[in-house]
Amino acid sequence: MAAFWLNGTVVLVDLVVPIAGSLLFIYVVYRIGLKLMLGFSRPVPAPPPPGELRKVRLTYMCTLCGTEVRMTRSPNTIPEGPKCCMEEMELIRDHDND
Ligand SMILES: [Zn+2]
Repeated sequence: MAAFWLNGTVVLVDLVVPIAGSLLFIYVVYRIGLKLMLGFSRPVPAPPPPGELRKVRLTYMCTLCGTEVRMTRSPNTIPEGPKCCMEEMELIRDHDND
């Protein structure tokens, strides 16, 4: 039925409307994605003054890929483990308390 209309109107219906619809759809998906991402991210705590950092000697291992890391400084003596492979790494050795 668009063929019976004037050229300008045909272009409007056949091109502008689908393009505008696509852009609107992309924008809506982008906004929903952004909201989800912001919901997942936790606020980062402010770093403590340098003198308040504790010296620790903790070894963590990733149970998924086997990576080991040594933590030497932490804001507290029982810190949250580092993350690897999207999982918290397991504390395998506390060199000062074993
Ligand atoms: Zn890993």
